[in-house]
Amino acid sequence: MSGSSRRSAWPGSVTQPLTSPIQPSVVYTADGPAALDRVYEGEATGFTYAREGHPNATVLARRIATMEGAGQGLVTGSGMAAVGAVLLGLCRAGDHVIGGNQLYGRSLRMMGEDLPRLGIATSLVDASDASAVKAALRPETRLILIETVSNPTIRIADLAGIAEVARAAGAPLAVDNTFTTPRAVQPLARGADIVIHSVTKLLAGHSDATLGWVGTNDADLMARIEPFAVTMGLTPSPFDCWLAERGLLSFELRYDRAEANAAALAGALRQMHGVARVFYPTDPGHPDAALARPLLGNRGSHMVSFEIEGGRPAAERLVGALAGEIAFAPTLGDISTTLSHPPSSSHRGLSPAARAAIGISDGFFRVSAGCEEAGALIEAFRKGVAAAAG
Ligand SMILES: *Cc1c(COP(=O)(O)O)cnc(C)c1O
Repeated sequence: MSGSSRRSAWPGSVTQPLTSPIQPSVVYTADGPAALDRVYEGEATGFTYAREGHPNATVLARRIATMEGAGQGLVTGSGMAAVGAVLLGLCRAGDHVIGGNQLYGRSLRMMGEDLPRLGIATSLVDASDASAVKAALRPETRLILIETVSNPTIRIADLAGIAEVARAAGAPLAVDNTFTTPRAVQPLARGADIVIHSVTKLLAGHSDATLGWVGTNDADLMARIEPFAVTMGLTPSPFDCWLAERGLLSFELRYDRAEANAAALAGALRQMHGVARVFYPTDPGHPDAALARPLLGNRGSHMVSFEIEGGRPAAERLVGALAGEIAFAPTLGDISTTLSHPPSSSHRGLSPAARAAIGISDGFFRVSAGCEEAGALIEAFRKGVAAAAG
């Protein structure tokens, strides 16, 4: 057998690996047409071609499905691929989609530009107000997309109220649960029809894999979403899936630690001179406190936002003083704390007036708490806020 023979030299083994192997093979061989028939007819388990599915995606999809209480799950090559698979897999020209007006930036772009370009009308409404969603309904509304907690202003969706509106209208409700994760909220158990994740964030947790996930208990919905995702090539890389599965094993530990850190940091920030406002879901003074408690209980999640006095110059001083301790980076869900400044990153495309309308001033910061020791984390921010105050 020459070294380049395609006959596999993989050793048989009477023992099984404890961890999932990585299976990068693009293509799978079969014993013959009859065996392929059985795979395609769903009578036997098997893989054919990696874009159509591969073991690392299957194992990751099942793990997240278990966490979300979903009968079916699909891993995609990014969180946005998951959002796109849902919106474009389910809607056609002439349909209407309602979205939260503070969705993730790229989701907002899809609602504002890509769907209308394809003849799908969209309306953006305040997701903390179910009556606003109801008022936006049209006879041709086919989908509602919200996030449990909004970025970066930490507003809380009225999930129960919107689920009721969606059910009465016969429009599936899709919930992007990236911020809160199934550790805090399981949207399917609260009336949502579809759950979406950017697995890139907390679930994978180490900023080294870009992935998404879609789950549902409705086989008919998945039968429309999955073939579209496969046709569009939204398939994930086996290596990324493997990394994410490894990350997922420590997800609960990381989440609980990050959440405790976020809650402690929110409390400390509130006491600091020069901090004008703090946004954290379990705050009694939170504008959506009445929604937060029934939805999240005491699970405030790992995200804290805050606003400092002194505008952009003070913001520059704060980031400068934290350099070397807290990464200034426009992402979230990493094992370490990251700090972002939405007016110069995720929300830079908005006019200052549009930013002001949703409460984002030049002194606005978003923190994704990580798993550091809480005291050191709070000390770092104390130093940053003091530097900002000048
Ligand atoms: C990051 C993010 C996305 C997009 O996920 P990617 O993996 O970056 O494509 C979607 N929704 C939310 C809430 C996010 O935070």
